[in-house]
Amino acid sequence: MTFTDFYPAKKISTFRPPQRILMGPGPSDTHPRVLSAMARPTLGHLDPVFTDMMEELKSLLRYSFQTANQMTFPASGPGSVGMEMCFVNMVSPGDKVIVCRNGVFGSRMIENVQRCGGVAVVVDNQWGEPVDPQKVEDALKQNPDTKIVAFVHAETSTGALSDAKTLCEIVHRHNCLTIVDTVTSLGGSPLKVDEWKIDAVYSGSQKCLSCPPGLSPVSFSDRVVELVKNRKVKVQSWFMDLNLLLGYWGATRTYHHTAPTNALYALHEALFMLYEEGLEHAWARHQRNHKALKAGLETFGTKFLVEEKYRLPQLNSVYVPTGVDEKEVRRRLLAEYNLEIGAGLGDFAGKIWRFGLMGYSSKIENVMLCLNALETVFANMGKKIEIGAAEAAAHRVYATSPLNAVPAKTTA
Ligand SMILES: *Cc1c(COP(=O)(O)O)cnc(C)c1O
Repeated sequence: MTFTDFYPAKKISTFRPPQRILMGPGPSDTHPRVLSAMARPTLGHLDPVFTDMMEELKSLLRYSFQTANQMTFPASGPGSVGMEMCFVNMVSPGDKVIVCRNGVFGSRMIENVQRCGGVAVVVDNQWGEPVDPQKVEDALKQNPDTKIVAFVHAETSTGALSDAKTLCEIVHRHNCLTIVDTVTSLGGSPLKVDEWKIDAVYSGSQKCLSCPPGLSPVSFSDRVVELVKNRKVKVQSWFMDLNLLLGYWGATRTYHHTAPTNALYALHEALFMLYEEGLEHAWARHQRNHKALKAGLETFGTKFLVEEKYRLPQLNSVYVPTGVDEKEVRRRLLAEYNLEIGAGLGDFAGKIWRFGLMGYSSKIENVMLCLNALETVFANMGKKIEIGAAEAAAHRVYATSPLNAVPAKTTA
């Protein structure tokens, strides 16, 4: 048989993706330094040069998560693998887990609990609102046999930030463990794993870290490691069993699975850049670009889905203004400006847009281009707007809120 018997297309060639600007809910743009790190020679996953890099990577992750947890490493797989790793290791059959749901990702946590044979008690909140600490307190009082409470710190489906510190305090008063989804918060919003006493945390490489998708940083407290070591029922997933993974990411370096070496160089470079920039600086940069985008969007009369004090700077959900075709705007932004923005999910499909300003995508050029493009597309669709007003509003924010200069070496 010839190739065309298997592949009916007329021609095939090297894949050359267009240069897009990713301003959706993730992935976000990868920094060129990270892309070039990924193109370096592949090493064996047990090569001493590589394992030295792994140690640096773990330290960089501890800094990014603000934790001293020994068990801190990037899981091989997207954010969903980090999520699953927390649940399969920590939930034994019959365990009661309170799951807070205020968007898409809470639903996935419920699914995880149930597949582990656990009993999920759901604390529902409106989409677009943060998790209500009082509801969690009430659920804990009503379910004194609860083992774990799980919630999403930064809900990417809506753009709402929950108060992880307060939630963890409540959970610990009831002697339970916490699982916190920080896929969209890591690198973009303040996150302090040790200070807030988060027990298990997972994130993703492709949101605010300027890195491609495919890795999931995780960190577990000693309490969690003890719990997993003392499980009566084996962890149902061989691949995600922390007891086995410890052998590779710990001191013994025994083969578990072939680590995605080049992807790990990329994460190392991305986290090194975050370290060079400084966490606080990165948080401030995300905030400043959010303020500028917000000022611009408001000139169109757009309303945000989330109340101001719970808004994520890296994920801006706004109602689609009247008089424009939601899908057609996104199509034109992509076709004419190479600019990707996100659509609404669930009940918000067709009603909102999600503008991501994550990691390397969170920069002045993107904010200005996006506002400029929207003005053009809206005007072409016959919507009455004042040309240049959105950019002027954003410009005013930048001009009146200086950000301390990024250390020179970051831009090298
Ligand atoms: C993106 C995201 C995930 C899933 O990450 P994947 O890399 O797509 O598997 C989980 N939780 C939140 C809050 C996210 O934004």
